[in-house]
Amino acid sequence: MKKFDVMVIGAGPGGLTAALYASRANLSVGILDRGIYGGQMNNTAEVENYPGFDSIMGPELSEKMFSSSTRFGAEFLYGSVASIEVDGDKRIVKTDEDTYEAHVVIIATGSEYKKIGVHGEDEYSGRGVSYCAVCDGAFFKDQDVVVVGGGDSAVEEGVYLTQMAKSVTIVHRRDQLRAQKILQDRAFKNDKIKFVWDAQTEEIMGDGNEVTGLKYRDKNTGEEHVIPAAGAFIYVGIQPLTEPFKDLGILDDEGWIDTNIKMETNIPGVYAIGDVRKKELRQITTAVGDGGIAGQEAFNYIQTLTD
Ligand code: FAD
Ligand code: NAP
Repeated sequence: MKKFDVMVIGAGPGGLTAALYASRANLSVGILDRGIYGGQMNNTAEVENYPGFDSIMGPELSEKMFSSSTRFGAEFLYGSVASIEVDGDKRIVKTDEDTYEAHVVIIATGSEYKKIGVHGEDEYSGRGVSYCAVCDGAFFKDQDVVVVGGGDSAVEEGVYLTQMAKSVTIVHRRDQLRAQKILQDRAFKNDKIKFVWDAQTEEIMGDGNEVTGLKYRDKNTGEEHVIPAAGAFIYVGIQPLTEPFKDLGILDDEGWIDTNIKMETNIPGVYAIGDVRKKELRQITTAVGDGGIAGQEAFNYIQTLTD
């Protein structure tokens, strides 16, 4: 069993920052992720609200944060965490293949996209249905695409898609966007973007091989319409990745983790940071802020164990 002072679960901006702070305080730190470091930043085309950069591609910011966070010796480890167990002062982290022991565990597993749950969504996933414009946008050069959703992700990634697509139709279930005003203004000014309001998406249509369009019901008239499209990008929100922690008694009714301002959960030595927390603003800056606090608090907590 490998031992660390601190195990960080999740290498998004929150986890990477916690690892930076804890390792710089001379603690031994393992940072576990089931995929590539960077988390949701890897699905973000352009980040323009992270101080210090007027604009930076998400994957590039991931590289920079990873390099900073491992500079003081934090060790990056692959593995999908299945559970955390509490045994006195020991916190045991189990992945599908390995077991780790630590004094402190910092949960930074973030969130994942939600599905709409309509016919065709799963069938055509990867064959026209996508949840990542930065990953798949290039496949739709000079083609018509639809984006479902009305939040920051739908509008921002919709604008990004206009760089390659012929047209982008944003299909939203209400007549007002939820997205930040600056993003709305940008989309309204973009000639390649059309909006379909009060539209209940009913089906992602295809020819058996790839996507051919999106069927929606007009909520005002009840009529069904089809928008021809080669790609359907779904941005209808996020949900917490907390399944492995459901037996710890630290989740709220919707699965988010409740913490205090020190990022402490109700279990001593178990912290939660970033998008996975119950919080108002889920952003890179707020994940980074949480990570700094938890990294420092881990140091304070471990001092009390050795006193
Ligand atoms: P995440 O970035 O979600 O990272 C969590 C990590 O945990 C992942 O790497 C995941 O693989 C890992 N993980 C999960 N479960 C396990 C497990 N069981 N075992 C091991 N590892 C696990 N914010 C901005 O500030 N500016 C933007 O421009 C912006 N654009 C966005 C665009 C899109 C399309 C999306 C979806 C989000 C955007 N955001 C933006 C929000 C921002 O990306 C998130 O708030 C931020 O990434 C959250 O960081 P995090 O560290 O909490 O978690
Ligand atoms: P979100 O803010 O929850 O928005 C989800 C959108 O999808 C809403 O407009 C919602 O409609 C719609 N929707 C939900 N369920 C639906 C369904 N079943 N069918 C059709 N539409 C549905 O999610 P998000 O846009 O992915 O953003 C997630 C988080 O990341 C937010 O905290 C956001 O601020 C952050 N983010 C930030 C940036 C940035 O700062 N530049 C960029 C992207 C994301 P209603 O409006 O009717 O509820």
